[in-house]
Amino acid sequence: MRSLSTASAPSGGTTIFTEMTALAHRTGAVNLGQGFPDTDGPPAMLEAARAAIAAGANQYPPLDGVPELRTAIATQRSLRYGTPYDPDTEIMVTTGATEALTAALLALCEPDDEVIVLEPYYDSYAAGVALARARLRTVPMRPDSTGRFRFDPADLSAAITPRSRLVLVNSPHNPTGTVLSLQELAAIADCCHRADLIAVTDEVYEYLTYDGVTHIPLASLPGMRDRTLTISSAGKTFSATGWKVGWVCGPARLIKAVRQVKQYLTFASGTAFQHAVALALRTQQHWVADLARQLQTRRNQLRASLTAAGLSPFACQGTYFLQADIRPLGLTDGFRFCRSLPGQVGVAAIPSAAFYRDPEAGLPFIRFAFCKRPEVLDEAARRLTSLRSTPCQEVE
Ligand code: PMP
Ligand code: GLN
Repeated sequence: MRSLSTASAPSGGTTIFTEMTALAHRTGAVNLGQGFPDTDGPPAMLEAARAAIAAGANQYPPLDGVPELRTAIATQRSLRYGTPYDPDTEIMVTTGATEALTAALLALCEPDDEVIVLEPYYDSYAAGVALARARLRTVPMRPDSTGRFRFDPADLSAAITPRSRLVLVNSPHNPTGTVLSLQELAAIADCCHRADLIAVTDEVYEYLTYDGVTHIPLASLPGMRDRTLTISSAGKTFSATGWKVGWVCGPARLIKAVRQVKQYLTFASGTAFQHAVALALRTQQHWVADLARQLQTRRNQLRASLTAAGLSPFACQGTYFLQADIRPLGLTDGFRFCRSLPGQVGVAAIPSAAFYRDPEAGLPFIRFAFCKRPEVLDEAARRLTSLRSTPCQEVE
């Protein structure tokens, strides 16, 4: 059988998110592992989904997605970032960002082509690269003196070889919370121009940035629109991770290549949800802005709790996630720590090593999700204080 396991799937072939959510259920732990909100998205969007079902939007949508949603995505990209796309030829709705990412890799990579990613990276990237029989080249991100993870542009340049095909960029970045700056994006764009690379960007946390930091799409940099596939999703923006409505925007020739693969993955999905997301994109921007403000407060709440528990949190400019270093507790193995934490302390987290090709590189880091109600974060904080008195034993 084909194995797609990375460090994230060491046991039983499931992802680390599935493993930790199952462990949280078994132990009754507060689940700050898998990144999903515990409250619903905008009521108007939920009502629009119900209304669409009642109105009979229950059969296949068009392969590219319902026109109403493609038009709403085009308007959003144009108004927010100044990057216009033709809804008929340059936008495709997908089954979550995950399908868009995998279809893009399958469509654009030949066997042994190299895909450059910043490490740590979201687990589906390595699986998508493996499915395409391509190769992953990693560029390390490391924490600076402020706790912000960053890459060295020299490492990026050094990762380019004659087999480089595309660079896959995630910003805001899971799990580090880094939002790439204009300067960092310009370094990536420069490499794309020099080595004639395609860029694929994962922008699923595009709205979830904090402290006045703004998200800049790589496609908005000079000359990049025509070599970039931009991927996003309604899951995080509208707190509807289970709806799996995603999309990909880009020049018609790249979208055409992705379409050919996507039609044989799912063909299409979620007609009623697509209508509801179209409405949300058009009318619920105020709701999303409010969500980002609330998440900033919750990040601060979680950061204070982790510090109080004796952990050392890193910086977080965006996403749902805050990483922490467990070494101040005298521990070094995040995998073992995260497998012990639910049973011993009653909180679930994700070992960041699952986001590394070489797990050693991220071993002492763990990731907490703060997209939870304040009272849930309070309960987690209360439980985590026991780490100070009885440090968690790492179990196998
Ligand atoms: N990319 C990143 C960085 C993610 O954290 C996630 C998880 N939502 C995804 C992609 C997958 O998005 P979707 O649920 O829309 O498939
Ligand atoms: N994106 C979610 C996270 O990073 C996980 C989604 C999944 O379970 N595949 O936590």
